[in-house]
Amino acid sequence: MMDNLKTSHGVLKLPAFFPDATRAVIRSLDSEDVKNCGIQGMVVNTFHLLSRPGARVISGQGGIHRFMNWDGHIISDSGGFQLFSLLAGSSKLGSVSGKGFIYRLNKGDDRKILTPEKCIQKQFQFASDIMVCLDYCTHPNDSYDKQKESVEYTILWAGKCKSNFDKLLREKDIDDDARPLLFAVVQGGSDFDLRRECAERLIEIGFDGYGYGGWPIVDGNQLAETVELVSQILPPTKPKYALGIGKPENIVKCAKMGYSLFDCVIPTRDARHRRLYVFSEKPESSSLAGSDFYKCLYFLDKKHINDKRPLEADCDCLCCSRGYSRAYLHHLFKIEDTLAYRLATSHNLRFYARLMEAIRMRSGTPETIQ
Ligand SMILES: [Zn+2]
Repeated sequence: MMDNLKTSHGVLKLPAFFPDATRAVIRSLDSEDVKNCGIQGMVVNTFHLLSRPGARVISGQGGIHRFMNWDGHIISDSGGFQLFSLLAGSSKLGSVSGKGFIYRLNKGDDRKILTPEKCIQKQFQFASDIMVCLDYCTHPNDSYDKQKESVEYTILWAGKCKSNFDKLLREKDIDDDARPLLFAVVQGGSDFDLRRECAERLIEIGFDGYGYGGWPIVDGNQLAETVELVSQILPPTKPKYALGIGKPENIVKCAKMGYSLFDCVIPTRDARHRRLYVFSEKPESSSLAGSDFYKCLYFLDKKHINDKRPLEADCDCLCCSRGYSRAYLHHLFKIEDTLAYRLATSHNLRFYARLMEAIRMRSGTPETIQ
């Protein structure tokens, strides 16, 4: 696994977890809070930012970093997954072709088009550090023909994204060490041959990094075997990004397979749903084996009502280090005060950052992770 990755915002230590700031914010946290959690970067979503506030606003503000007041790393995801979800919900809302996605957000809205070229052009307007090619996601239960079509479009679009990326780099005359990186996403559902074909043809085009896309987690928490297959095919010299893979035990497994970038809504969404992650033992001395190295606490549980203890004694997050008790956090959730979301989200993100620190400590000896 690579130890670090240089982006236009400095050195990113790998492996790294990027929380989803889909609409350019981690709900309830400001950028200083996020940095204090030990988080190195965030993922924003091109599709969502195009509808609000629009690329022109972000560009006019000096780019996504200035707009968010965040000087860490930023990945802009393409939005392919969200468009897939939109169309899966109702085919009346749009269609897919070799040219890209045609869609409307609601019935009666104007039609919008997201082409691969436009997707990259908009990400240049955001000026993100890592850009992601437009890809076409599928559901694992989709037919072989549908999976095949998704792979064909994903490869075709990745080629168009790369051409436009290179063209914009030349036009903007960006220095090589200040340029953004471009990642492509491997699709193919649970079909080994399609995954292999997609990975190999994307490698032929040549990208700065590669992602594993689609529905990776199936059947009783088992990681799909295709996750490992794809990692074996991808070049060891390029970063591998496991899109949307975020259960702590799955991050540990994927890091062992060679993936070094992760994003997921789990820590932030679960925090808002009163589900908090705590280590069962100190992560730096834990084997991180199985899923017993951590547990989840549900904060509406009555057992917290009179608990004077901090959420987690060893944690240095905003919530734990400032002396807030479990009883107080329970109370804040009960009365639905926004402070509950800030404290809980800070804690969960710190948990994820500590997990990544623990994996990085072992990165020289990956065999110790089981
Ligand atoms: Zn904490």
